[in-house]
Amino acid sequence: PTVYGFEIEERPNVTYQDIGGLEKQVEEIREAIELPLLKPDLFEEVGIEPPKGVLLYGPPGTGKTLLAKAVAHHTQATFIRIVGSEFVQKYIGEGARLVREVFQLAKEKAPSIIFIDEVDAIAARRTSSDTSGDREVQRTLMQLLAEMDGFDPRGDIKIIGATNRIDILDPAILRPGRFDRIIETPLPNYEGRMQIFRIHTRKMKLADNVDFEELSRITEGASGADIRAIVTEAGMMAIREERTRVTMDDFVKAVEKVLRKELKHPVELK
Ligand code: ATP
Repeated sequence: PTVYGFEIEERPNVTYQDIGGLEKQVEEIREAIELPLLKPDLFEEVGIEPPKGVLLYGPPGTGKTLLAKAVAHHTQATFIRIVGSEFVQKYIGEGARLVREVFQLAKEKAPSIIFIDEVDAIAARRTSSDTSGDREVQRTLMQLLAEMDGFDPRGDIKIIGATNRIDILDPAILRPGRFDRIIETPLPNYEGRMQIFRIHTRKMKLADNVDFEELSRITEGASGADIRAIVTEAGMMAIREERTRVTMDDFVKAVEKVLRKELKHPVELK
């Protein structure tokens, strides 16, 4: 449910098994976020401070939210999501207060994962064309930095930021003790796409001719979100023809429909 600018989920039901490709990224985020939450003693004994937060960056629909939710699931943490652009557009004059409230809430509901989507909307580098209206954004960023600096890395709150514009971020947000680790989520490769097709068709009745290798081949450049849309569209094709089994032909038509409008270079279909 969305409560005035943020969204809370007690323990999201997304698991690492729901994520296709991204094996290395899962490993990295588990080490940076899950390990310190579940085994803080390890860090204590070795005498190092665990990271406070990680930044995920990559194209839209590549699984950033999915990764953050899966970590919350596996650590039994409360998942609190805020969207950078909404913070500065919808709640003008209130961004800084909302940031304070989110961290307060995270403390009350700990262990917590604070997921800041579109973090670039709050934390973009200042440019010469900035206007006075951006002072609001600036104040929100200052509050965020203050909150990040203020909490204990050994505690049970972690922050995950997400962006597809890492190039415009204010370097202040990437300093040690803030977003300590940076993890890239690229578009899925051949293997990744095949896995994502498998994940999203788990509950489907598939005709024998459905060929995941071929589907992966004809969807080069597609994101995980695109693949989910393709699977849904293929299911719709079957429904329209009053079938319950989804065929390869449904998938190929769905690829055509979904990717033609979203990819700059439409795939060749045989
Ligand atoms: P955005 O930048 O647009 O917020 P995101 O990277 O956070 O995107 P998600 O919200 O995680 O992307 O992905 C959207 C949906 O696409 C997911 O709910 C999931 O159904 C599907 N998806 C994306 N990536 C993957 C993946 N690697 N494995 C399985 N499903 C995926």
